[in-house]
Amino acid sequence: MIWDPKHECMDVEQRRALQLFRLREQLARLWAAVPLYRQRWQEAGITPDDIRSLDDLPRLPFTVKNDLRDTYPTGMFAAPMDEVVRVHASSGTTGKPIVVGYTKSDVNDIWAETIARTIALGGGTSQDILQIAYGYGLFTGGLGLHYGGERLGCTVIPMSSGNTERQLLMMQDLGTTILACTPSYALTLADAAEEMGLGPDDLKLRAGLFGAEAWSEGARVAVENKLGLSAHDIYGLTEIIGPGVAAECECKGTMHVFDDHFYPEIIDPETLEPLPEGETGELVFTTLTKRAFPVIRFRTRDITALHYEPCPCGRTHPRVDRITGRTDDMLIIRGVNVFPSQIEHVLTGVHGVEPQYQLVLTKEGHLDALEVQVEVAPAFFSDTIKGLEHLEQEIGDKIRSTLGIGVKVKLVEPKTIERSIGKAKRVVDLREKT
Ligand code: ADP
Ligand code: ZN
Repeated sequence: MIWDPKHECMDVEQRRALQLFRLREQLARLWAAVPLYRQRWQEAGITPDDIRSLDDLPRLPFTVKNDLRDTYPTGMFAAPMDEVVRVHASSGTTGKPIVVGYTKSDVNDIWAETIARTIALGGGTSQDILQIAYGYGLFTGGLGLHYGGERLGCTVIPMSSGNTERQLLMMQDLGTTILACTPSYALTLADAAEEMGLGPDDLKLRAGLFGAEAWSEGARVAVENKLGLSAHDIYGLTEIIGPGVAAECECKGTMHVFDDHFYPEIIDPETLEPLPEGETGELVFTTLTKRAFPVIRFRTRDITALHYEPCPCGRTHPRVDRITGRTDDMLIIRGVNVFPSQIEHVLTGVHGVEPQYQLVLTKEGHLDALEVQVEVAPAFFSDTIKGLEHLEQEIGDKIRSTLGIGVKVKLVEPKTIERSIGKAKRVVDLREKT
């Protein structure tokens, strides 16, 4: 089912006209409401009137995460606080979190709508029982999915993250059909189900909406097999709205971007110049409709490519490739750029290990050293020492041939890597301390 055919299947030229109309309205509002934007544009010698077509958008300066830190907590809000009905904050990395706000119409007319679309992209309807195991609270995942689930008419189970046994209990007793959580938590749930002797036939799950962190095709296959569902990638970020920015339809492999609300560009992260369709670079978003916290040309640091050719599902929204990493979670190991997702990809292609791993970075002398700790599959753990050594060797060789770096591989016992209830912590960087 397509939730909103009028917008999701809109003629592309018609949508461009709508986007331009919305963009110009947004720029005019921000010129008046947010001093940071007005000042930046004045410095660049541009006024909103200079943006006459979508092709003029790249003339405007970028917005970056630091701008949000510098104006903490609400310096970039574009609506008065009495119109703001909700705030969220990004899980953040260091220092102060980033606070974002929503008006009533941001929550109801944009967010709930794009999440309803997202659930429908995953095959959901009002008949579904949706278990939300994303965290509720300042994190956008839980409440974001929640309002969209209700909008679609699903029966929503607001579990929040953690409490794995109870999750599985509710899943069985209420007959959950759609599970929404991070892919790493889906793996945790899948393992726990296996341990409790629950197979796909004991559960009614048919779809999973997994996002908020990078994951691989291998992880998809593992979760699909263990839980007996069809796993869909969903994407979003706090600064743009939270989840509900892009999601995979039944065709899989790419995610539709809801660009009637969130206008995407791909830029070269070095030169900052726009890249043509199909080329891989950094994703940049301009929010066209949000009122409380709009952003213009926000640099996501996420790496992907944009595609405009029609999708067999009938939706005309453009698509982005699976997000393979961020320009800033990139590890540089002996001069080689490495994304954790690349290592995950290698691991999921090795028979005998689980996609549960941790990357430990240290210094050996002046050189970076990377140890890949990965869990042996329970069935392999009883294997001989020789067999395990062979497995370590195989993983090391595959990583070397894929990434061009030598790493130390350490197999660890099943279930010893700390299970995630939200975003997995894949990298432990001990380089400063050693
Ligand atoms: P949230 O707290 O809503 O996850 P953050 O702003 O903390 O928002 O994190 C958003 C980031 O999470 C994105 O910029 C991206 O790097 C990552 N992310 C979200 N969804 C996905 C996804 N489906 N695949 C890969 N990475 C994702
Ligand atoms: Zn599609």
